[in-house]
Amino acid sequence: MLDERLRAMDRHILGEIWTSDAAWRNLAYLCDDIGHRFAGSASERAGAEFLAAKMREYGLERVRLEEFPMASWERGECHLRLTAPLERELSAIAMPYCPSADIEAEVIDVGEGELPDFERLADQIPGKIVLTDAETNRPGERKSHRTDKFAWAIERGAVVCVFMNQNPGLLRITGSITGRNPQGTSPEDREAPIPGIGISYEAGKAIRRLAERGTPRLRIRTTNRTFASVSYNVIGEVRGTAYPNEVVLLGGHYDGHDVAQGAGDDGAGTITGLEAGRALAGLKGQLKRTVRIICFGSEEVGLLGAWHHAAQYDAQSEERLRFVLNLDGAGRGMGGQEQLTLSCLPELVPYFQRLGREMAYEFPVRDELNSHSDHFPFAVRGIPNGTLNSRDSTAGMIGRGWGHTEADTLDKVHLRGLQMSAILTARLAVRLAQDDAFPGRQRTLDEVREQLRAAGILERQERAGRFPPR
Ligand SMILES: [Zn+2]
Repeated sequence: MLDERLRAMDRHILGEIWTSDAAWRNLAYLCDDIGHRFAGSASERAGAEFLAAKMREYGLERVRLEEFPMASWERGECHLRLTAPLERELSAIAMPYCPSADIEAEVIDVGEGELPDFERLADQIPGKIVLTDAETNRPGERKSHRTDKFAWAIERGAVVCVFMNQNPGLLRITGSITGRNPQGTSPEDREAPIPGIGISYEAGKAIRRLAERGTPRLRIRTTNRTFASVSYNVIGEVRGTAYPNEVVLLGGHYDGHDVAQGAGDDGAGTITGLEAGRALAGLKGQLKRTVRIICFGSEEVGLLGAWHHAAQYDAQSEERLRFVLNLDGAGRGMGGQEQLTLSCLPELVPYFQRLGREMAYEFPVRDELNSHSDHFPFAVRGIPNGTLNSRDSTAGMIGRGWGHTEADTLDKVHLRGLQMSAILTARLAVRLAQDDAFPGRQRTLDEVREQLRAAGILERQERAGRFPPR
């Protein structure tokens, strides 16, 4: 039987969000007026100020910008020329933190670019330009991340890594590449040791086709700049009345890639969180625990805002995070396609499934830990967390679909999808804030180590100095 007080709060949330186009107007402003919001840029700063102003307007409490130092990056020119077996200019973009370079070398094609591919071709990689598929995972599949492939190429002596999009449409793929010292924040730490270049499916296919006539060579000329900057998390909350130091944290990342509007990744998730916050602000004085809305900065360049924020909930902190709901990918598409992915927390699968039934809004709940979005800095601290995302028109596309290309634009997001994800987010937040019998529990570092090992990502996190968390 559904609690009458929860029903009343649900009616408020549904009425407030379903009868408003605020989510759409806010996302349109973020994308059309402010623009890409690349980490550490003036555009990101403008996005932060806009989101903070909206939080204040909606009556969220303790609204603040949380600043942290980082190194940003600015693209210049990028020219890619096939010089053998015949001459051809190819369209390409430098990936964030690509250094300036003028390099010509033979190409070694590692295909999908999984670890066995790199191992099999190891003796042919030194001094060469590696050509690899950027992302090959179809929906639901787990394949290696761009940054893994980049690391494997460098370890084996490659001089450039060229990433090929697997979705047709002349879309050059982007994504940040790893610097010399992943823990450092200076431009020297952050700049990548070798260039990373993004090309379209069609350009990659042309290189592979022409390779049948003779070993291809490429010349890459690019000028870019890595520089010291700052970035911001944007935070506002509804204070809990009974247990204000027990916090439910929710939000997406508002930064995007400089080639696009970042509408789906992750303007939509950011606005999902803001819209949920707008509705929850009307429940002030009714929530037992604090619900904190966060818009993470600099996710696309290494989850920097989330790492910075998660570090504040250490043993000395008065506050305790009950649950973190990451909204990376929430609010895309037409709505009704939301799904929750928990970070290896089997006790919470039946819990969230039951909430879905009780709310008369069932959604798939998966349980699979990955390290590639803002939930992860909380996961390594043993904090219960999950990511809510919405499938969209990219269903059937490979990897991120439109994401990380110029095509991640506002036309692919819809008010209805934003409303449905915001309603689900707000209703879950209310339950997480009110439930005195929430079964989620903090993991010990030993338990987290086992989770990371089971997910096959322990070694990489230890090498990057991310585990144990600092
Ligand atoms: Zn994202």
